[in-house]
Amino acid sequence: MRVIADPTELRPALADLRLRRKTIGFVPTMGALHDGHLSLVRVSREQTSAVVVSIFVNPTQFGPNEDFRIYPRTPEADLEFLEREGVDIVFMPPTELMYPRGSKITVYAGPVGETFEGAIRPGHFDGVLTIVIKLFNLVQPDVAVFGQKDAQQLFLIRRMVTDLNVPVRVMEGDTIRESDGLAKSSRNVYLKVQEREKASVLHRALATGQRLFDAGNRSLADFQRAMHAELAFVPEFTPDYATAVSEASFMENDPVADSVRLIVAGRLGPVRLIDNFRLSASR
Ligand code: AMP
Repeated sequence: MRVIADPTELRPALADLRLRRKTIGFVPTMGALHDGHLSLVRVSREQTSAVVVSIFVNPTQFGPNEDFRIYPRTPEADLEFLEREGVDIVFMPPTELMYPRGSKITVYAGPVGETFEGAIRPGHFDGVLTIVIKLFNLVQPDVAVFGQKDAQQLFLIRRMVTDLNVPVRVMEGDTIRESDGLAKSSRNVYLKVQEREKASVLHRALATGQRLFDAGNRSLADFQRAMHAELAFVPEFTPDYATAVSEASFMENDPVADSVRLIVAGRLGPVRLIDNFRLSASR
């Protein structure tokens, strides 16, 4: 496994893989790796003969009052994990090499980038899409894998790839969860013991929505009411949203579509949690 920090060293390393007729899969991460990230590496492995993982805590997707400085960083453990998974290249650039002084051109994530997570975190998705296109340009992968855990991010990356004709096949990985349903996340380490016990409320709210959907209910207001009622059982949780969006548009429809994503987010103490379920009438 090669660990590369300097973007200019990536090109020859990738050329070497290409010379050996390898197809390249790419998994971008912010590190503090867990089983969710590893499952994406495995999705990539199934599709491609070489895997590149990036570890970069991207400052431009954090707001001024967010957790950029304290975001968990565990580089040694991450590298051990990735070595065991047989990853070919780990790209871990320092911030100043990814954003040299004076870099100003960015990607605008469009109107969907200003809703839900984008409404709570203004500019977040512009930052995400900007770093993703930069990484795509550096790695030039055949396949890139993202988690359904960040459903709005996945939606916007697919949109960017389509709208800007980016020559990458985007694949997705299922959300990996703890035994009580809490989606694994690098930020879960922020949860205190009592908060951790309550954090599965997001999963319960989504399961409540799923039951309505499976019973044939398609009323948007009913989904919102039922999920908020479940969340209210944990008064320490402050919801930002709990609703249903169409898979095709990431917008709310009433009645909800037959292919829908239930999305929920909010704060438990100081920790922001998000989760979602994809539901389809043809399941
Ligand atoms: P992050 O390091 O949080 O930026 O996430 C890197 C990638 O891992 C993104 O594509 C996420 O959607 C994905 N990811 C994060 N948590 C999970 C999870 N629990 N299961 C599957 N994928 C995940």
